[in-house]
Amino acid sequence: MQQDDLPYLVKFPDATGQFGRFGGNHYPPQVWPALEELTSTYLSLRDRPDFQHDLDTVRVGLQGRPTPVHFLRTTTAEVGGARIYIKREDLNHTGAHKINHCVGFALLARNMGKRKLIAETGAGQHGVALAAAAAYFGLECEIHMGEVDMVKQASNVGRMRLLGARVVAASAGQSALKEASDAAFSAYIEQHEHALYAIGSAIGPHPFPMIVRDFQSVVGKEARSQFLSLNGGQLPDHVVACVAGGSNAMGIYSGFLDDPAVTLHAVEPLGTSDETGKHAATLSFGTPGTLNGARSLVLQQEDGTPSKVSSVASGLVYPGVGPEIAMLHEEGRLKIAAISNNEVIATFFRFAKSEGIIPALESCHALAFAIKLAERRPPSETILVNLSGRGDKDVDFVLNEFRDADGPAR
Ligand SMILES: *Cc1c(COP(=O)(O)O)cnc(C)c1O
Repeated sequence: MQQDDLPYLVKFPDATGQFGRFGGNHYPPQVWPALEELTSTYLSLRDRPDFQHDLDTVRVGLQGRPTPVHFLRTTTAEVGGARIYIKREDLNHTGAHKINHCVGFALLARNMGKRKLIAETGAGQHGVALAAAAAYFGLECEIHMGEVDMVKQASNVGRMRLLGARVVAASAGQSALKEASDAAFSAYIEQHEHALYAIGSAIGPHPFPMIVRDFQSVVGKEARSQFLSLNGGQLPDHVVACVAGGSNAMGIYSGFLDDPAVTLHAVEPLGTSDETGKHAATLSFGTPGTLNGARSLVLQQEDGTPSKVSSVASGLVYPGVGPEIAMLHEEGRLKIAAISNNEVIATFFRFAKSEGIIPALESCHALAFAIKLAERRPPSETILVNLSGRGDKDVDFVLNEFRDADGPAR
């Protein structure tokens, strides 16, 4: 992790897993032993040269790291303002940044003598990334997925099974991500002697937000040095990421948290409107609460149950944010913005035609905001966007549901 070179990453979280007044572990005492075992093993392994060496090997060979930083020539010329660059996390094996922490958890499991990885998945992206990492390391993989999501995302269910994972249907409640997440965590607590839980984002009780952030920090560290060499030693003025739980955002922010001159932007899904139930913009509209075992900002009803949330990007449909994002927001370190479904779809079409890249709908939130920001800033400034994933998974949906500005999409 090379923790020594990044002062911010060493400072947070504190020894009890707090990020300011957020974070911690708010699950009942029967789950503490499993979490304490994970915390102490992780802290003893993370700086060990052999662990780091094994992680680097799998990042290079299986994942395809380092991913490049790429200048958007056409978009920048069209906008005529600040210059836009992207960090190409879409080029990762399995199509998004999520595999950065999946391979980390798999390597941790192997070092802890565990034989199985357990997780939940919503649209299936996290499940596929974890199944690939588990297969590489020779581990069993158990993915909990809502029954409704299994029908909607049948091809990802097929990919997970092909990669050797067992997909378990969660049928309680709305049979979606929340139910799958509860089922996966219970399965972990039952089986923790031989299994490790690999959470899908920088959320959950301590130590999960810290571990996910640390594994994702490779994105920011690479991006920082790549950007400096592309730009004659100048840092970017703005760094932009979309935020659900905050794993891709914390990944790229990690490279720049010690640089106060770099403005960090968090972009949320505004869905179809700012009415409750029609968006998933927690930083914009959330309040302090407890979700998935941690204190954070939450979109919640008066009795504390999570609100209904919505976005065209299924990977952003989450009624909270990770505790570290909540702290950085409260400290004023983040600038927040919200992007609507319509802006996202327009960006999806624009970007494919002008740059030859099909971005994930989640990532289109960050790109759409970056283009608006570039329009208001001078050409002397630079913007670095984390392009968190590729949009191949979204193509059928977008072409069936939306028309291109130039006429029918197909
Ligand atoms: C899951 C996902 C996200 C959102 O998750 P974070 O943990 O907030 O990063 C963003 N982009 C892509 C491509 C995803 O798959």
